[in-house]
Amino acid sequence: MLDSYGRSIDYLRVSLTDRCNLRCIYCMPEEGISKRNHQDVLRFEEILKIVKGSASLGIKKIRYTGGEPLILKGIDELIYNTSQISTIEDISLTTNGILLYDMVPELKKAGLKRVNISLDTLNSEKYSYITRGGDLSKVIGAIDKCMALGIGPVKINVVLMKDFNDKEVGDFINLTKSMPISIRFIELMPIGEGEKLYKESALSTDTILEDYPNLIPISNRSDSTARLFKLKDGKGTVGLINPVSCKFCNRCNKIRLTPMGTIKPCLHSENEINIKEYIYNEELLIAALKKAITNKPLEHHLDKEKSSRSKKMMYQIGG
Ligand code: SAM
Ligand code: SF4
Repeated sequence: MLDSYGRSIDYLRVSLTDRCNLRCIYCMPEEGISKRNHQDVLRFEEILKIVKGSASLGIKKIRYTGGEPLILKGIDELIYNTSQISTIEDISLTTNGILLYDMVPELKKAGLKRVNISLDTLNSEKYSYITRGGDLSKVIGAIDKCMALGIGPVKINVVLMKDFNDKEVGDFINLTKSMPISIRFIELMPIGEGEKLYKESALSTDTILEDYPNLIPISNRSDSTARLFKLKDGKGTVGLINPVSCKFCNRCNKIRLTPMGTIKPCLHSENEINIKEYIYNEELLIAALKKAITNKPLEHHLDKEKSSRSKKMMYQIGG
């Protein structure tokens, strides 16, 4: 379906939970997250109804994210049931990878084709610092297992941060020499906890192009948010994602579903459409989804305002 600016909206990102087994410093506060009651968050059967309704409006791609989606029991079944919707062409998952190693076979069996794993450093002490306690070896093991079992291409999301991982950019890029993975450097966004770090840590991904002129541009899908590059004879790719310095709102094809049952037509807008109350009435549900797509704002204002207008945090919306 087209939004009111003529953009074709075919991608739904679903945040399955706002809970997480890590506490990345730019995403979640260390303490003070209270657990929601079960009735306040969508159940998988409700999510499936929304996914089906969205599919009838032209949504073809689904990404399950969070919080951390792999802490939820039955996610393989949700993926399987999603894969049975005939018009859904692509199902992917964004995870921190901590619980992934043991789950790769069941996720693959359920129909998962692709996975994005968030990993901001290759140094175990720095990893433990940025995630407040995460074990890097678990993530590395999961990446190897995904590749061994053919879930791929594996995409690694790296939030670029000054004086944290900017000296590791070369090490990440070098992984693409021999491994068929996609390393994607993403700008830190001033949203939620990220806003506190933004001033001192934000760095444009353009600096990578200045420092690594050996990256060769390659073409990418027209709706992709990443500018893609590769090393000469490299097996993988390097993506640069600039949500702040060079926004891609004119190509945005997504809407987002939060665990609380609201649709966010734009990650950085305060607008949310509550669809929870319509889940069991197909006609009203479709009308609410149409309204959400139609009301998608033209653009965000992060570049000028240096602050997101979103009232929800990244762990509540999903990246
Ligand atoms: N827990 C899963 C994970 O970490 O992959 C999925 C949810 S997490 C919110 C999704 C993505 O958002 C991660 O890649 C994370 O690095 C990114 N993210 C969180 N806060 C961010 C911020 N302030 N700026 C840029 N990316 C952010
Ligand atoms: Fe959890 Fe992902 Fe946020 Fe890290 S980025 S705290 S893993 S939701």
